[in-house]
Amino acid sequence: MSHALANRLDFLTRKYNEYNQPMYLSYPVDTHWRQDTPMSEIATSLSVLGSAQVYVHIPFCRTICYYCCCDRVLGGKEEDKELYIDALEKEMELKLSGRASKLVTDNMHWGGGTPAYLSEVQIERLYGSVSRYIEFTPDARIKLEAYPDKRIVTASKLRLLKKLGFNYISFGVQDFDKRVLSAIHRDCDLEETRELIGLAKSMGFIVNVDLCYGLPYQGLGEFERTLQEIVKIAPDKIVAFPYAHYPAVYPLQRKIPLLSLPNPFIVSLLYDMARQYLAADYEELGSDTFIHRNGRETHPSLIPGRRAARDFMGSSEETSHDLLGLGKSAVSKVGGMYYKNVAPLDKYHDLLGKSQLPVEHGRTHALNADDLIREEIILKNLLGGSPIDKAAIRAQFGVDFDVYFSGELALLRSMEKDGLLEGTDTPLITVTELGKHFVRTIAFAFDVYYKSNKMGENSICNDKNKLQ
Ligand code: SF4
Repeated sequence: MSHALANRLDFLTRKYNEYNQPMYLSYPVDTHWRQDTPMSEIATSLSVLGSAQVYVHIPFCRTICYYCCCDRVLGGKEEDKELYIDALEKEMELKLSGRASKLVTDNMHWGGGTPAYLSEVQIERLYGSVSRYIEFTPDARIKLEAYPDKRIVTASKLRLLKKLGFNYISFGVQDFDKRVLSAIHRDCDLEETRELIGLAKSMGFIVNVDLCYGLPYQGLGEFERTLQEIVKIAPDKIVAFPYAHYPAVYPLQRKIPLLSLPNPFIVSLLYDMARQYLAADYEELGSDTFIHRNGRETHPSLIPGRRAARDFMGSSEETSHDLLGLGKSAVSKVGGMYYKNVAPLDKYHDLLGKSQLPVEHGRTHALNADDLIREEIILKNLLGGSPIDKAAIRAQFGVDFDVYFSGELALLRSMEKDGLLEGTDTPLITVTELGKHFVRTIAFAFDVYYKSNKMGENSICNDKNKLQ
C-alpha cells in the first residue's frame, strides 16, 4: 500500500469508525426485533413451510474464549448434552411433526458453541432425529463447526460425520500467534490444525477456516505469519471477520486489556493484508469471504446469473430463503418473519418441558415493504458484493431509487467524494476497493432503525412505515 493510500485510509478510519457498526447478519439487526407475534401465528407459518435452511445450535464448549460473542455454555457434562438433545428432539417434534411431508433443505449447519464437542454416539443420535423430520436434497451442504483440537475432532469422529452425510467442516482458527491466542483464552496449534484440515480434506470434506482480525496484540507481523500458514494449508474457503469489542454486552471481553487492541487504522490494514495475501489463490466475495479457485467450494456469486447475500448462515444465495433455527438462542426466518429462541438454557428446557415453542416473546419482527428494499440493498448488494442496480430495485419493488432514497443520497455522495463509492448519480452504484473497508458503514447509511448522530452528514430519514 502506498504512503498516500495509507494516509487516506488512516483519515477515513477516523471519520467512519467501523467498530460501531452492526455486523448485519439480518436487516433489521436482531436488537431491533421488538414485536410480539402470537405463538399460534408462528406455529401456522411453520406448518406450511416446505423448504428452508436449517441451523442447529449446540452451545457446549470445552473452554470459553474471551473474545467470543456466541451463545455458549462452558463444559457440559455428558448428561447435560443428552438432555439438550432430548430438548432439540422435542423442539423438532413441536415444529415439524404432523406434516404431510418432511421439511426439505439444501443447507444444514450445526453451529455453536462447539458441535464437534458432542460424542460420536450423541452426534449419531441427533443426526438420526434430524433425519426423521428433514430431507436433504442430493446436493445439500451439511456443515459442522469445529475447534481445531484433536481431543475434540478425532479421525474416528470425522469418519462418522462423513458416513452420516456431513460434507463440510468449518474450523475456527482466528490466528496462530501464541500471544494473541493467550489473550483471548484460546489454544490453536498450527501443526495440529494443518493435520486436521489435511485429514478432513483427504476424506472429501469441503473445509472452511474462520480468521479474525483486530484481536488483542495482533499486529501486522502476527497476522502476516498466520496468513502465510493458512495459504499453505489452502482451505477451500476462508472467512475473515473483524473482532467486535463490546465488553458491556459480553462481560468476558473485559479480560482483554483495551490497550492491547489494534486501533481502527491497524484493523483496516489487517483486513487489507488478508485481501492481498489471499488474492493469488482465492476469489474475494462480498465483504469477508474468500473462495479457493481450485478448491471444492462453489459459491452462488461464481455461477452466472446467481448472487450471494449475507445472512445468519454466512454468505449464501438468498436472504428470502427461509431459515429454521433449532436450539437455544437460534434464529429463524419463516414467511418473512424473524424470531429467536430463548437463550437461557433452563428457560429453553422449561418451555419445551411444557410442550411450548421455545420462542422468545417480544423478539419477533415481520419484515415490512420498506425492510425488504433495504434488506436487498444491505444484505445482497453491499454485504453480498454486488452493485446497487437502480433499475433492478425499480423492477423488483416498484420504487424510484433516487426519489425513495433522497434522504440517503446526500450521505452517499459524500462517501463518493471520500472514494468509498462510485456512480451515486448513475444507474449503478458500486463500492470501490477503498470502500470495501467501510462496507458496513455504507450499509448503515440505509439502516432506518438507528438514529445516527455520529455522522454529521447523515440525513437518513427515519420513516420506516412509509410503505406499510
Ligand atoms: S469462540 Fe467458539 S469455542 Fe470459543 S467460546 Fe465461543 S463458541 Fe466456544
